[in-house]
Amino acid sequence: MPPADELPDDQAEVVFTEQSIDWLIDNVTEHQREDVVDTIVGLFRAPRGKHPLSNQNATNLVGFNTVEAAQREFRIIYRVTVKNGVGLIEIITIGQRRDGEVYSAADALVRSGKLSDEEQTQIWDALTLIDETKSRLGLEEWDYVEPPAPEGLVKAAVAAGFDDEFVRLLSKDELVVAMESAWEGGAFDPAAGVAAAVQRISTSTTPDRILALRREDRCGAIMPKLGKPCIRVKGHAGAHRGSR
Ligand SMILES: [Zn+2]
Repeated sequence: MPPADELPDDQAEVVFTEQSIDWLIDNVTEHQREDVVDTIVGLFRAPRGKHPLSNQNATNLVGFNTVEAAQREFRIIYRVTVKNGVGLIEIITIGQRRDGEVYSAADALVRSGKLSDEEQTQIWDALTLIDETKSRLGLEEWDYVEPPAPEGLVKAAVAAGFDDEFVRLLSKDELVVAMESAWEGGAFDPAAGVAAAVQRISTSTTPDRILALRREDRCGAIMPKLGKPCIRVKGHAGAHRGSR
């Protein structure tokens, strides 16, 4: 895949190498992490960053780009590609801007061949690892939908008295919570089940809103690294997401 100057719909799958996450955890303060994340979020609209890299100083990073973060204290080396119409941002290395280590580390990763094989970390998991809030990425926690519960479980829940349409909007885990909670008081209480399931999805918004969002079309973009469709709402901002 050749490097890309634009991302379709300003969206992309975003992955981090283990090296880049470890560096963030070890070297960057909480406040600076926010700035680093903001900088990465800025790449959705401006994927060229500061400039494309070339082969110099004994490194060959043709096809990669660089951007500076946190008052130019840090440098991020990354690659932007588009596969079958879906963008991919790979964060390769993050380091001090002033020394060349960030380049040589990126070069070593590229030469090792690990970049293509290595299991890279999705941005959602990376944010959890660095304790960064996901709302920064324009993500509201509830705009994605997991696969539906198995049909047998759905039928059992409907037979027990749950609304069929509601049950089909829940993941397996959520439906199990709904069933357990509905029977908690001894007699079947579907409202208690619904409340428990909705609380499990999110406490930050109203149940109606959550369920309405789940009825909307999914993004469905096949994520280049993950090889799975995005489960966020169609037209979402920023990063594609493949699982909870
Ligand atoms: Zn998506």
